Amino acid sequence: MQVLNTKNELISLLENLRKEGKKIGFVPTMGALHEGHLSLVKESKHNSDITVVSIFVNPTQFNDQEDLKRYPRTLDKDIELLKTVDCDIAFAPSVEEIYPEPDTRKFDFGYIETVMEGAKRPGHFNGGQVVSRLFDIVQPDKAFFGMKDFQQIAIIKNMVKQLKYNIEIIPCPIIREENGLAKSSRNTLLDEEYKKNAPHIYATLKKARNLASQMNVSELKKWIADEINNNPYLETEYVEIVDDTTLKVVENWSEEGTKVACVAVYAGKIRLIDNIVF
Ligand code: AMP
Repeated sequence: MQVLNTKNELISLLENLRKEGKKIGFVPTMGALHEGHLSLVKESKHNSDITVVSIFVNPTQFNDQEDLKRYPRTLDKDIELLKTVDCDIAFAPSVEEIYPEPDTRKFDFGYIETVMEGAKRPGHFNGGQVVSRLFDIVQPDKAFFGMKDFQQIAIIKNMVKQLKYNIEIIPCPIIREENGLAKSSRNTLLDEEYKKNAPHIYATLKKARNLASQMNVSELKKWIADEINNNPYLETEYVEIVDDTTLKVVENWSEEGTKVACVAVYAGKIRLIDNIVF
């Protein structure tokens, strides 16, 4: 596996590979890698000739500076993990390498950035900037994203359309701990008691899926929030049930389309997100 830190090195390496007819798969990450990330790498390996993983904690998508400071950084371990799944290229640039000057572009994602993460983390989806910068450098044929960041996939698909990228966006399933907790780099920041209680989030979502036939949509959302908040270690920030492609908030079960229940929950200071397809 090659580990590169500058975009010029990466661009010229990929240019040569592309000339040989190689198809490039890309997995953007913020590092502190776990099985969830590795599942995307494996998927890319199956579907591409060359897999590039970027490791870059993007400062522009953090609206909370404490959260940015606290975000785990484990580059050496990440490189070792990537070798175990035969990743071809790891790209770990500095902030200056990606933003030699501030990126002042503002994307307009319309309605889809006004709900859930967009509503609660203002400016978060301007982090779309970084994905477009990385797409420009890597110019992948396919890019792989986890469904844990469900809204992010809708944003990226929208950006690909707006900027007319010829990149196939491939959503990949959520990888969980045995206890159901969605794997996340942030889980390493959870103190023991919070870690013990965090699986209650997914347990609640699973129960909610079974209760959907017995309650209307707003009753079920309230039930989910109450059930999670009844646990003294957890506090919901939002509970939303949305259409999986438009992200339109569902009002009636009779509406067409696949529905997804999405939550953001604070476990102490650590913010966790999860979702379940109904
Ligand atoms: P992050 O490093 O958190 O920005 O995540 C990088 C990519 O890994 C994103 O596409 C995430 O959706 C994906 N990812 C993170 N956690 C998981 C997980 N538990 N299962 C599947 N994909 C994940």
